[in-house]
Amino acid sequence: MSKKRDYYEILGVGKNATEEELKKAYRKLAIKYHPDKNPGNKEAEEHFKEAAEAYEVLSNSEKRSAYDRFGHDGVRGAGGQGGFSSMNMEDIFSQFGDIFGDNNPFESFFGSGGRTRNRAPQGTNIRIKLKLTLEEICNGVEKKVKYSKKVAAQGVKFNTCDTCKGSGMVNKVTNTFLGPMQTSSTCHTCNGLGRKIENRPPGADSNGLINEEVTTSIKIPAGVQHGMQLSLNGQGNESPMGGNRGDLIVLIEEILHNDFKREGNNLLYDLFISFPIAALGGEVEIPTIDNKVKVKIEQGTQAGKMLRLRNKGVPDINGYGRGDQLVQINIFTPKKLSIEEKDILKKLEQSENFIPPAENKEKGFFSRMKDLFQ
Ligand SMILES: [Zn+2]
Repeated sequence: MSKKRDYYEILGVGKNATEEELKKAYRKLAIKYHPDKNPGNKEAEEHFKEAAEAYEVLSNSEKRSAYDRFGHDGVRGAGGQGGFSSMNMEDIFSQFGDIFGDNNPFESFFGSGGRTRNRAPQGTNIRIKLKLTLEEICNGVEKKVKYSKKVAAQGVKFNTCDTCKGSGMVNKVTNTFLGPMQTSSTCHTCNGLGRKIENRPPGADSNGLINEEVTTSIKIPAGVQHGMQLSLNGQGNESPMGGNRGDLIVLIEEILHNDFKREGNNLLYDLFISFPIAALGGEVEIPTIDNKVKVKIEQGTQAGKMLRLRNKGVPDINGYGRGDQLVQINIFTPKKLSIEEKDILKKLEQSENFIPPAENKEKGFFSRMKDLFQ
């Protein structure tokens, strides 16, 4: 490794340079060695990074005094950068706000690199629908989905826009009686992007993107609801010019279940029992979302009674436990009867026990519903 140069020497300033002088010196070097001005020139890039590092240290009073006392070792020891190779371009460009303020020349002069990279439009979002069964929703599921996404075409190349030289803005100087006045407006050739497509592969659109079928695996957490949207960052369309990718937005659709109706995290289930079981009591087997359970029917059970099976509902998406399965009891009335059955029922009809009392002490359906959802 070659010996590191002195930071003051790199910036070409004296040891007593003021903050302003440092800024000025760095500004000059940043413009001179900016990668956009020296495309493919490794040496310029090294100088550029070297200057950025020197400025990073010397513009920070703590780091500067450590450097003054102990040299490069002091900066490293004080938690400074390990070397200019460790500073990435994003770090460097983020300094530009300090040294150039609002008049960052890399937007108005060169444009295609540095901060202007952020100006590349973001890729658009893709929306897909995903149908899930109630079982999948209750257990959580990993789903493979296939969708079409815009990606950069092989061999696509962009060139700096000739009209605006990559700035995305065009300056116009008008001579007025007060002297020349400069105005700037968005470049019409490139719509302000600063770049234009140079090599457009067959099938690619004007942004150099083509459609590609992709398959991706999506983890669906348990407890999602119909209409919910999951957003997968960066899985959407690619950006025309290297900006951030869009997102993949997955709209959840719940397939209606044959046995259960979902109410929030509870599952409603309609149970039909025979009249003898309602009257005598007994045990019936009913499905739950992941199994079967036996439930006891008490002697003298009324139609409309609700049973609650705790924690047999849908898991809460935020992890707050699980809903319940609510079982509503219905009494099945046969539509056809044999002569023998008719005889028995006719006898029962006369029995006092089978006549509903005028004032039913049992709670009616509506008050029971009220209790249940309180
Ligand atoms: Zn342009």
